[in-house]
Amino acid sequence: MRLFGYARCGVQRAFFYAKGTRTMRSLKVLGVNDDTDTCEVCGKTGLKRVVWLERLDADGNGESGPFAAGVDCAGKLLAWSAMKVQRTAEAADRARTEAERCKIHEIGDVRSVRPFVVESVSSQGDPAFLAFANGRKSAVELWAQDRWPNACLNVRPAR
Ligand SMILES: [Zn+2]
Repeated sequence: MRLFGYARCGVQRAFFYAKGTRTMRSLKVLGVNDDTDTCEVCGKTGLKRVVWLERLDADGNGESGPFAAGVDCAGKLLAWSAMKVQRTAEAADRARTEAERCKIHEIGDVRSVRPFVVESVSSQGDPAFLAFANGRKSAVELWAQDRWPNACLNVRPAR
C-alpha cells in the first residue's frame, strides 16, 4: 500500500499545541501500514505497523510530508489512546480506498459516451465493484487486466 494520492477528505485531524509554542498546530492521521518498521519519533525499530502522520500548517497544508510513528508515539503526539490512533488510522485507510474506488479513471484519449464499471467476478460468479473507467472498452479491459492481474474481470457500461 502506498500513501501517495491519499484522499484529502475523510481523514481525521487532531489539533494540539506544539511543545513550547502558543501556535495551534494540527496533525493529520493518514493511515496505518507496514511500509516501514521504524518510528521516526523515537527511533524504535522492529515495529509490526506504523501510523503515518503529517504536520499541517495554519492553512491546513502539509508541512512535512508523511512521517511514520509507532502507535505509542503517535498516541503521545496526538494525546490519544493507542486504540483511538489505531481506529482513526484504519478509518483513514478505508476512506482513501473508497475514494480511489470511486474515482473515474480516464484511459486512453478516446472517451466513451458513458463510463464503464470494472468488476472482479468470484468463482461463484458474484461481481465486486473495482472502479469506474472512461475510455474505449478495449483499452479499459487492457488497463484493468494490468491493474488487477489476478482477478477474473468484467467490464460493462455503467448504468
Ligand atoms: Zn516511537
